[in-house]
Amino acid sequence: MKIAVLPGSFDPVTLGHLDIIRRSSAIFDRVCVAILENSSKSPLFSVEERKELLTRVTADIPNVEIDSFSGMLVDFLKMKDAHVIVKGLRAVSDFEYEFQMALINKKLSPSVETFFMTTNSAYSYLSSSIVKEVASLGGDITGLVSENIISDIYEKIKNKNK
Ligand code: ADP
Repeated sequence: MKIAVLPGSFDPVTLGHLDIIRRSSAIFDRVCVAILENSSKSPLFSVEERKELLTRVTADIPNVEIDSFSGMLVDFLKMKDAHVIVKGLRAVSDFEYEFQMALINKKLSPSVETFFMTTNSAYSYLSSSIVKEVASLGGDITGLVSENIISDIYEKIKNKNK
């Protein structure tokens, strides 16, 4: 069984993330989307909320599971009996950091392979931060995130600004 882990903040999940999740679910037997708990960024959504949003938008993909982790990614892979990390690449700017991470993970755990998946060109500009920025300015986020989580994002931003 080939299990791939797709790590990230997913604060919140965008259509760019979903595209990578969907495409990797067609390649691997199982895809574990892993929410990073100890990110230095101060998140808009809690880990539990992000998990719930991810679960909702991936409900139609049978071989996807949503989980979270803190600490070392390679330790999480071991726990899941996974040997593949999937990463989406949007631009050259993503590359330098991801290349370094792939090499350190290989050094820490030689059986781990990192797979880079090129973004869908329709989403190459898309990030969670852009979604939060547009939504907080009252802009339309249709086409940036799944329809069924749009109101959750506006609601969260409204409550945060209270
Ligand atoms: P963000 O930069 O949006 O906060 P995350 O840290 O949550 O992203 O990213 C999780 C994974 O999804 C990373 O591998 C990242 O490169 C990838 N990713 C994020 N947005 C896109 C996109 N628009 N297209 C392709 N991959 C993406």
